[in-house]
Amino acid sequence: MKKPADRSILLGAHMSIAGGVHCAVERAESIGCTTMQMFVKNNNQWHGKKFTAEDISTYKKLLRESSIGPVVVHDTYLINLCAVNKEILQKSRDALKDELDRCEMLGVEYLNFHPGSHMGAGERDGIERIAESLNLIHALTAGYRVKSVIETTAGQGTAIGYRFEHLRQIIDLVEQRERMAVCVDTCHILAAGYDIVTETGYEQTFREFDSVIGLHHLVAFHVNDAKRERGSRVDRHEHIGKGTIGKAGFRLLMNDERFRVIPKILETPKGPEMKEDIKNMRVLKSLMEK
Ligand code: MN
Ligand code: MN
Ligand code: ZN
Repeated sequence: MKKPADRSILLGAHMSIAGGVHCAVERAESIGCTTMQMFVKNNNQWHGKKFTAEDISTYKKLLRESSIGPVVVHDTYLINLCAVNKEILQKSRDALKDELDRCEMLGVEYLNFHPGSHMGAGERDGIERIAESLNLIHALTAGYRVKSVIETTAGQGTAIGYRFEHLRQIIDLVEQRERMAVCVDTCHILAAGYDIVTETGYEQTFREFDSVIGLHHLVAFHVNDAKRERGSRVDRHEHIGKGTIGKAGFRLLMNDERFRVIPKILETPKGPEMKEDIKNMRVLKSLMEK
């Protein structure tokens, strides 16, 4: 018998769903994850095959027997909830609704998505359109338990979400506010300009997060080191300890009591054998002061 994973820390990585969603659970379990992220359909297509009853029951059974939970789903990269093009906007809304349906069928706790890119229409316009999209989608999915989780962004191009204020404003405009939550991507907030490397910078950043958004909204971290310098607004993930956040930044995060039970998920480059995930998780755990 394999020894059960250490559930005192919720650490995992984004897993491939090749072979079906249940395969993501098997992969995560095989490398000792206690939480994980996955897509619920091909991440660069609008439509996916419907789940069969067997897909769902196999996934649920494997998850129940695993050491994994909560599960985060990442939305497909095509979705833009503030697209200016009417057709893309409609497709995006339909697609996010479909993702919520899929999460609900699987009993997934969190659907993580990027706020959107305003494509030149301006940030205020984008923020309002994102909230409108969420209100329409939530109305079609009343009573769902899966949370709508907005991810902080690096602010590449016209991406919204590189300031905590953007997320606050979106949440404020959403009618079913209890369905909203936030995911902090460490690479993204550093690229956006927030200091999480020095002790004083780190404290200031999360004090600001708390006063602007509220720490109670925070449900997940994407733990990625960053290839580029703070404030670059460039979204390039690096292996833990090898980038501009470095071990110093991750040591602060891994030892922060406030975040001990919040899932931390890697989205760093990896091969099919997931050796990189194993190593990155080992590095993160090694930074914890017992
Ligand atoms: Mn993301
Ligand atoms: Mn991310
Ligand atoms: Zn990223």
